Amino acid sequence: MEKCIRCGASLTRDEIGLHKKLVNRGSTSFCCIQCLSEEFKIPVDELRRLIERYRAAGCMLFQ
Ligand SMILES: [Zn+2]
Repeated sequence: MEKCIRCGASLTRDEIGLHKKLVNRGSTSFCCIQCLSEEFKIPVDELRRLIERYRAAGCMLFQ
């Protein structure tokens, strides 16, 4: 199970996919949605909507 490099929270597949989208597709360490929210100054709700949008678009990271 992957863990957030900032706060140690267990990561979901969606969070890992989101990190790859926002930060770097080749990342091997990841942040949870909460830490990504703080890092990018984007509300968690907005990030969740973003995940749903990517999933709806058929992005492989969110299948
Ligand atoms: Zn975190």
